[in-house]
Amino acid sequence: MTSDDIRRLFLNYFKERGHTVLPSFSLVPEDPTILFTIAGMVPFKPYFLGREEPPFKRATTSQKCLRTNDIEEVGKTARHHTFFEMLGNFSFGDYFKEKAIPFAWVFVTEVLHLQKERLFITIYKDDDESYEIWRSLDIPAEKIYRSGEKDNFWSAGPVGPCGPCSEIYYDRGENFGCKRPDCSPLCDCDRFLEIWNLVFMQYNRDEESNLTLLSKKGIDTGMGLERIASVLQGKDSNYETDLIYPIIEKLSSITGIEYKGKGIIPLRVMSDHLRGAVFAISDGVLPSNEGRGYVVRRLLRRALTFSHLSGYQTPFIYKAVPTVSNIYRHSYPELFEKKDYIIDAIRSEEEKFSQSLKDGLSMFNKLMPQIKKDGIISGEIAFLLYDTYGFPVELTKEMAAEFNIGVDIEGFNELLMQRKNLSRQGSQFVDEIITTSFTSEFVGYDNLKTNSKILGIYKNNNE
Ligand code: ATP
Ligand code: MG
Ligand code: MG
Ligand code: MG
Repeated sequence: MTSDDIRRLFLNYFKERGHTVLPSFSLVPEDPTILFTIAGMVPFKPYFLGREEPPFKRATTSQKCLRTNDIEEVGKTARHHTFFEMLGNFSFGDYFKEKAIPFAWVFVTEVLHLQKERLFITIYKDDDESYEIWRSLDIPAEKIYRSGEKDNFWSAGPVGPCGPCSEIYYDRGENFGCKRPDCSPLCDCDRFLEIWNLVFMQYNRDEESNLTLLSKKGIDTGMGLERIASVLQGKDSNYETDLIYPIIEKLSSITGIEYKGKGIIPLRVMSDHLRGAVFAISDGVLPSNEGRGYVVRRLLRRALTFSHLSGYQTPFIYKAVPTVSNIYRHSYPELFEKKDYIIDAIRSEEEKFSQSLKDGLSMFNKLMPQIKKDGIISGEIAFLLYDTYGFPVELTKEMAAEFNIGVDIEGFNELLMQRKNLSRQGSQFVDEIITTSFTSEFVGYDNLKTNSKILGIYKNNNE
């Protein structure tokens, strides 16, 4: 089954059940508090909050999403990307869990024909209602796991609509993941793959963290297209699906880096970051030094660093843009129309960074004896790499990790603050660098201001 088939099946299934099918909204949300659309519900937030009257009670989308909080997982796990698509069905004050759960179950078992034996469920710890609904669908009690706030209570940032959620997991088998005998859907490894999250939106959380019932309860679900494609296409990871593998093949043929052993993570990272950059640029975000543009810049620089560290040092990523637009020729034809524009943007960013990356890496090597002696990359060195060679500090951290050493982030931030006070220019950029160096996450201007640790709209994302 191709990913185009899966997307179509999903949208049709919910269309037949009274949902209005909408095209994906832009990666750039109208909501000014977040940088990128990180989930299918983002464009519908005003409906859930009751601030706007929805023109329909039920909707379904395959939404383009970009999450930077998962950037360090990319390539290491089989399931995390920065860019991915989220298939979702939404109810605005219409049906609630009594329908949302059977809708999802029938879709995965009767439309996608997933083996029931391989499916597991999680629910919020005291959500007996959901438990009973799953039981009524003949799910054995021992396959329903209860879990707490972190994974099974969804929250739209520090304030806003929220509620308990219930997830469907697919067991890839005991050869996958941590291989511990007690491995379960509650484990964070790749064996039990979270494919679909059903959120029962019923509260609003205010500034003081008080929960009040929403006037109208809603449903917000999200299923990762790349993840379900990996299951249906019988692949060990999302990267081998028809959504990504052609990009890996292309990058591998250009660079000669083979998709095995040490080549796997770099090729996964490059293909992932290229997808993110292509979709963001297509939605109007060009690489720059602040806000959204900085995220795109960081994706491209990170991709290039991985290729440099693997021994390939000529700008080349832009050459795989046609492969990306070809994968999405039916679902996102605009990528094809804007192909040349996207290629130019990526190529120029690559060329700009390539030389300074070479210089920076050679400087890094020269400083290695000092670094080894210190046992840490000092704030000064991190700042030098950042300031003179344009290295996002996360890159420095990653390079350091290769040598099992840390980076003095506090020292780095101090120098950055001094620079900020000196220049007072581009201060927003500086704020964001500081925040990312703490959290590796761009969450939105509000959170940046408060330097909040809450990572994005999905509170359960990370910590
Ligand atoms: P995980 O626990 O695996 O990190 P999550 O709980 O953070 O996933 P949700 O926020 O519940 O994910 O998002 C809903 C769905 O979107 C997930 O069930 C998954 O299928 C998909 N998804 C989430 N994050 C990613 C990602 N970084 N890359 C690919 N798909 C994702
Ligand atoms: Mg999860
Ligand atoms: Mg989840
Ligand atoms: Mg997550």
